[in-house]
Parts: sequence; structure tokens; C-alpha cells
Amino acid sequence: MKCDLCGGQVVERNVAYTIEFNEQLYIIEHVPTKECLQCGERLYTPETVEKIQTAIWQHQKPDRVIKTPVIDYMSIV
Ligand SMILES: [Zn+2]
Repeated sequence: MKCDLCGGQVVERNVAYTIEFNEQLYIIEHVPTKECLQCGERLYTPETVEKIQTAIWQHQKPDRVIKTPVIDYMSIV
């Protein structure tokens, strides 16, 4: 399979997917995706995205909760 954007090689991987909902950041781990080795474009199936959205809307109990450091880019330039 080739990337639609750049024609690079696309491989199947499990990645961490981040999504913001109601000003809360969620990280969904081990999400299956197809990723382009050349440009990094990721393709998720509609079913995958729907499962993630449903889990968040239904307040799925998190498997773990982490503290996330936030750095403002303006503070490092
Ligand atoms: Zn690509």
C-alpha cells in the first residue's frame, strides 16, 4: 500500500492517539493505524475513530491516569 499524499511506503502500526474533549486531553494507547514511513501521515479506519469517540463520549473508565507536562512554545523561543 502506498501513501496518498507522497507515494511513500505505508505500514501497519499501533500508536498513541490524542484527542481533546471538553478541555480534557485524552490519550488512547495501542490504536491500530496505517502510517507512511516517508511523511508520517496516519490513516485510521472510520470504525477505529468511531470507537475512540464513543469511548470518550460515554466516559469510559481510564485504564490509567498520567500527569502531562505542558510547555508553551513561546517560552522557549
Ligand atoms: Zn506519505
